Amino acid sequence: MKTYCCEDMKYHASFKCNVHENPFDCPDQLVYCDKDGREFGIIIHDGGSSIIAIQYCPWCGSDLD
Ligand SMILES: [Zn+2]
Ligand SMILES: [Zn+2]
Repeated sequence: MKTYCCEDMKYHASFKCNVHENPFDCPDQLVYCDKDGREFGIIIHDGGSSIIAIQYCPWCGSDLD
């Protein structure tokens, strides 16, 4: 099981919406995390599937690598 740097990251990275199957469709989904849990990004809700890749946790500042 993956461990997250902080509770905020854990919440957002493991967030699953029951309504929106695609995380890019969900306004509540802030963080994109690939299935391996290695790549993180902030979802840009512009109707597409853009993310800003992040290397540090936006909440606690930990290195995500
Ligand atoms: Zn949703
Ligand atoms: Zn963190």
